[in-house]
Amino acid sequence: MSEEKAAAKAAHAILRRLAAKGGIESAQPEAVEAEIVEALERYERSLEAVTAAVLVEATSLAGAQTELDRRSVEADVPLDDVALPDMVDQLSQLLLDSEHVDELFVDDDELDKIVHAALLDYLPAIASRERAKLAAAFVRPRTLLAESKPTPAVTGDYPFPLFEASLESANVDEAGPCAHCEEVVDVRFSKACFACFRAGKVAAYVMDTELGMVRAEDAEEGLLHAAPRSAAPRGYELVEMGTAAGDAEPWVRVRVDGAALTELLHTPKYETWQGEKWLFCCQRPMVFVGPMKEPLLARLREAEETQEEVVGRLLQSGTREAHERTHQVLNGRISMYVFHCPQCRKHRAHWDCA
Ligand SMILES: [Zn+2]
Ligand SMILES: [Zn+2]
Repeated sequence: MSEEKAAAKAAHAILRRLAAKGGIESAQPEAVEAEIVEALERYERSLEAVTAAVLVEATSLAGAQTELDRRSVEADVPLDDVALPDMVDQLSQLLLDSEHVDELFVDDDELDKIVHAALLDYLPAIASRERAKLAAAFVRPRTLLAESKPTPAVTGDYPFPLFEASLESANVDEAGPCAHCEEVVDVRFSKACFACFRAGKVAAYVMDTELGMVRAEDAEEGLLHAAPRSAAPRGYELVEMGTAAGDAEPWVRVRVDGAALTELLHTPKYETWQGEKWLFCCQRPMVFVGPMKEPLLARLREAEETQEEVVGRLLQSGTREAHERTHQVLNGRISMYVFHCPQCRKHRAHWDCA
């Protein structure tokens, strides 16, 4: 990684300059270098945390840059030259205290100068890396999501109309023989080759959705599992099943286009912690776009929207929850699964955690 390189390069430069002046006696110069690298990487990690926090609330690139400057100072990890005085002190002291340094033959001024010179290359490299992250978050690459024509979804070599995410986020089986036609294939879906899976040969396949489990027989009838009327989702045609003795209200089934449900049963599940929960919109299964990661979050931002506002929109949640979930998803404490509706182009998401 480039960040390791910057730190390692700086550490190496310090040791090399010291050695060139005959300024250091050490039996383990690599251990000294490693200590310097560790100190620099601590700085980088703190700074990265500041950048991530800034991105959560930023609405514009200019605003984000100002905020990064301000908060990095506040967190004691200023950007660029501003960090020089403290960091020179810190690294010089590290060299003086290091148990791997037997003797330094330079005076304090000279030591500071050597450290200073190495940091003059290092600090701007780190600063520009963090600033580039802000810039990247405000660039909106052309995306499938923004296109108006219905694009057939592609998962590598495996096109699924309802699965637009990469194969890594699909729940698939390792290479092996297809359980139905026995052809040996690289990727299997529920133990079937792509062709057999798409042809519906996996008879017992079940997809869990926000409207309940979908099985082959549900798809055939175009009706989903029963629920008491008051618990039924809004906006769907409901088919009454009568009221059982002792029940206050009738049970109903929800009508959903059978062909759309069949398509869902020919679609791989996505990887989750707690199991899939396929979302619906416009009375149809939505298209799975992928797990929420920073690039997807950046892509989903509409003009002037903050990351939190995107998350709030997708989860249909209040600002307080959106704030919390945004931090959690960016820190990897929860996973968020994003869908879009090819009919109305809305995005929705649900989340879970380990
Ligand atoms: Zn097969
Ligand atoms: Zn919709």
